Amino acid sequence: MKVMLRKKILDKNEQAALQNRGFFSKSGLLCINMISSPGSGKTTLLARTIQDLASKLRIGVIEGDIKTDTDARKIRAAGAPAFQIETEGACHLSAQQIKDALKELPCAKLDVIVIENVGNLVCPSDFDLGEGVRVVVLSVPEGDDKPRKYPGSFSKADVVLVNKIDLLEHVEFDLDKVKRDIRRLNPDGEILQVSARTGQGMQDWYQWLRERKEQSA
Ligand code: MG
Ligand code: ZN
Repeated sequence: MKVMLRKKILDKNEQAALQNRGFFSKSGLLCINMISSPGSGKTTLLARTIQDLASKLRIGVIEGDIKTDTDARKIRAAGAPAFQIETEGACHLSAQQIKDALKELPCAKLDVIVIENVGNLVCPSDFDLGEGVRVVVLSVPEGDDKPRKYPGSFSKADVVLVNKIDLLEHVEFDLDKVKRDIRRLNPDGEILQVSARTGQGMQDWYQWLRERKEQSA
């Protein structure tokens, strides 16, 4: 019974995801679904990306959090339009929520839409939002066991951003092991090392993002 209900929810989600995907392709928008555990630095990474690419890419953001519009405010302060979804307890975003949120953003004036999913490495990976690209952020202080423990998220990533790389010397984190584990799950995904705080590696991420944007146009 539980399995059937879950299938029904996912089928309904898939229909809305299909509609979102059609909208993105018609509008020439690259949509990014950004997934990570809480505290990996997604919002900081996005704010820096928005500022550094201000003259090159027009980015709009849909924020997903259980409570508060803190992150949408941070994104607006960085200079991009943002719409906050408060899920009131739900631990992932659904395609229908994105479909509704798109009406709140100036899509005709944007090149890229980033969806910052609810901080959670478990179920967001099961919900297609209609995105063109999936980004998973793993921060160094979280530990190097995450790809093995949450294979569903890492196996579907187009790029894994290993964030807070500037902290590598202060914590126990075997970067080579993480890369091997991700490769095993996901042979084609890109792995980039970045620090949104110091700026280290961010140019590689921007390059990757701009190439993806060109491919989607
Ligand atoms: Mg956030
Ligand atoms: Zn969930």
